[in-house]
Amino acid sequence: MKKGKLKIKNCIIFLIILILVLYLVITLVKNLTTKEEKDKLLVNLTTLTVDEIKDYASKNKLNINLIYEYNYDKENGEIISQSVKEGTSLKNIKEIDIVISKGGIEKEILTEKNVNEMGKIPVMMYHGIHNVASSDTEYTGGNVDKDGYNRTSEAFRGDLEKYYSMGYRMIRLQDYVDGNIDVPLGYSPIVLTFDDGASNNIKVTGLDSNGNIIIDPNSAVGILEEFKKKYPDYNVTATFFVNGTLFNQKEYDEKIIKWLIDNGYDVGNHTESHNDLSATTTEKTQSVIASVYQKLESIIPGKYVNIIALPFGKPTSRTHTNYNYILEGTSNGYSYKTHAALRVGWEPEVSPYNKNFNITYIKRCRAYDNNGKEFDIESVFKNLEKTRFISDGFKDVVTIKEQDKNLLNENITNKKIVTY
Ligand SMILES: [Zn+2]
Repeated sequence: MKKGKLKIKNCIIFLIILILVLYLVITLVKNLTTKEEKDKLLVNLTTLTVDEIKDYASKNKLNINLIYEYNYDKENGEIISQSVKEGTSLKNIKEIDIVISKGGIEKEILTEKNVNEMGKIPVMMYHGIHNVASSDTEYTGGNVDKDGYNRTSEAFRGDLEKYYSMGYRMIRLQDYVDGNIDVPLGYSPIVLTFDDGASNNIKVTGLDSNGNIIIDPNSAVGILEEFKKKYPDYNVTATFFVNGTLFNQKEYDEKIIKWLIDNGYDVGNHTESHNDLSATTTEKTQSVIASVYQKLESIIPGKYVNIIALPFGKPTSRTHTNYNYILEGTSNGYSYKTHAALRVGWEPEVSPYNKNFNITYIKRCRAYDNNGKEFDIESVFKNLEKTRFISDGFKDVVTIKEQDKNLLNENITNKKIVTY
């Protein structure tokens, strides 16, 4: 009996030990697996296919957003990017955005949007902006003078609304000259310029407690800033061409010029005294150009544009003796190079990708009202309806129509050319 009892006792002890050992082993294995799962790291998804990514996401219980974008560097279906870095611990990931290429824009979309990067671009020429009601001027549609070189603030606001609603988006003159056109698919670029440095281009009414300029909201820049806030996608910018008197506000001129550069505007050269460069000697030509460059260089070194707006649009021919001195010269030991020159034109200029585009002789449109006649704003934009530049939305891709192939500048090598 004693022996039997002992056997049973041993058996129970053995069972208890067995259960304990089993429990330990199970816990250990369980712990190991969870640890491994917790430390699992995100793989590089950009080498996978969309189906493989979906599979990976469901296995690892990851939330993914698939975003499709046009892309000219990756084939349709290739992965462009993942929003979370490879190697990130899966337990720290809430959601991953996967951007997938749709390839280039489909022909049907190009046709529907009428994409035309061989189309024309309006470079608008403004002068003074006067804060008077359009009904108080003696002239038509917000012109302040007979020829419409000066506009009322009211008319200028109307012009900006009009350009925006017609699908125009501003680009910098320098970007037009360089052929860097960054406008969304289906939209058209427009360039704004102001000549003469009239104080009403950017009227300063004083300084705030931090010493920053206070800009009259009805001066040109005041109005442009208003539109910058109103339509952030308008890309508000403009280039101001000044004479030696800058913005005719001695006390504030340096601050004004620095402010313009810091706030996305550009400043260029309009000669020292608004000189007629078809009537100056070659020496005088160089001195009246050099002095403005030199002044700008001293205020905003290297940050102004080497572009000249030719006063009176003269000389009217590039074969004029002075032309070479407009583009390059030296005066009193100061040497300059002019990158581009603007005329006083009457119609939109060709695309920067057109073989006939000449950056040293760019036409502008006079921004004025003449009841739809003689190249006023209304007639210019009416004519543009059939010929306007319409963007493909890619800065480094030039999309043109098959019939315009012969117009393409063949020296353009830094862009992908697409024809349809
Ligand atoms: Zn002028």
